[in-house]
Order: sequence, then C-alpha cells, then structure tokens
Amino acid sequence: MSGPHYEVYAIKYAHHERRASENFIGGDPHDGPMPLDYFVWLIRGEGREIVVDTGFSAATGARRRREHIRCPTEGLRALDVDSGKVKDVVITHLHYDHVGNFDLFPAATFHLQDREMQYATGRHMAQPVFSGAFDVEDVVGMVRNTYAGRVRFHDGDAELAPGVSLHFIGGHTMGLQVVRVATRRGNVVLASDASHFYANLEQVRPFPIVFSVADMAEGYARLRALADSPGHIIPGHDPLVLARYPAPAQALQGIVARLD
Ligand SMILES: [Zn+2]
Repeated sequence: MSGPHYEVYAIKYAHHERRASENFIGGDPHDGPMPLDYFVWLIRGEGREIVVDTGFSAATGARRRREHIRCPTEGLRALDVDSGKVKDVVITHLHYDHVGNFDLFPAATFHLQDREMQYATGRHMAQPVFSGAFDVEDVVGMVRNTYAGRVRFHDGDAELAPGVSLHFIGGHTMGLQVVRVATRRGNVVLASDASHFYANLEQVRPFPIVFSVADMAEGYARLRALADSPGHIIPGHDPLVLARYPAPAQALQGIVARLD
C-alpha cells in the first residue's frame, strides 16, 4: 500500500465475567457467559506513537469488581512504549474504563470531542443511568487538563496525522469518537464502544449502556462505511479480538494482538 501506514495493536489490561443478556438491549434468548475484555490501543509508525484510551487503574477495578490484569502502561512498555513520553492520546469517550490513568501520560495532549465534555459535565450526569459509567474524578481531571492547555477538542471528524483520523459517532455517549488508521492491509477502524462486541455490530443489537439508541444503530453503519471491510472493524471489548489476530511475539500471547 502506498501512502502513510501504521502498525496497530490492541493491548488487553482487564477482564470481566458477565452474561450475554447484559450485552444487548432486550437481553439474549440464548443467555450464557459472554465476558468483556478491556483494551487500550497503540498506533505506531511514520515517526509517531499515538495511544487510544488509557484504561482504568487497579484501585478502580477493585471498586467496580473488574479483574485488573496489569496497568495499561505495562502493556505499552512490552511494546517498547514509554507512557511518560507519548505525545498524543485519543480519548474515545470519558467512561471510567477509557480515561483512567491519564496522569501516567504527563507529556500527552488528549484528543476529545466537544460533545463528550459537554455530556460528562452537563445535565445528564444528574441521572445515574447516564453517569454510572463515569468516574467523577476522571472527569474533573480532564477539566483540569483542559485548563492546563492539554486537551485538544474536536467537533466532528478530524485528521490527527496523515492516515490517522477521528470520527464522531455518539450513541454510546454523546461524544464518542472512533479512530481510522491507514495500515498495510487497508483502513482499520478502532471502534471502541461504538461496538462493544462483533455481535452488536453484525446483528445490529445495541449494547444497553447507551445515550442514544438511534445514534448507536446509525453508528454501526458508519463503522462499516469507514472501514475497508467488516474485518477491518475492531470492537472495543470483544475477547474474540485476541483470538482473531496474532500476537506480535510469543510472550505476548493473550495480551497483545497486532491488528494491521
Ligand atoms: Zn468501555
């Protein structure tokens, strides 16, 4: 492929057992175990390192009863990335499992959609149904980062670097964004929670933690339009990602998948 292209990695840092009925609006007729994996992602190439989301800490995992396996920064270190030196971090949305640990990226500018900050600091947070997946300390921290000049806001689609672009989706939260990356196999889309599992997207069965069901359903079509094929869409929490893509090294089996 000509033009810029990048390596892309999914790095697992946590796990949570739950049932299929919890992963679809309206439940699931064949209810059974359907666990969640938690990931951060790395985009590397063309002289850049871009981290997508920062995960949650061990303390947050204990509080929310999620199995915290390792700090996401340790997973990055296994790929020779020093979180202290990363300059660009995309925050797909401000839920606790995507923006904790931001303090471990002291050199970073955080890329966030306008509408996500509006959502996380506005009227809807007075209702537990919408605020439940946010950690107020994370949100306050990102407000402080904003005042420190460390948040770059985007309103809709934006190019982060040649071959790396941000795309507003909404749905799951008011300001959810996804990332499209040019790779040697074509355009890969890091969907984050625009689709938690392959099944949400493939069967158009939205996940129940949602701001707008209509926008979430539209988002599935948007993901398909952005990616070169359905096989180029990477869901945000599906353990199948580690089954479908190879580890970059034997020692990283079950921890890191190479997506490009
Ligand atoms: Zn999530």
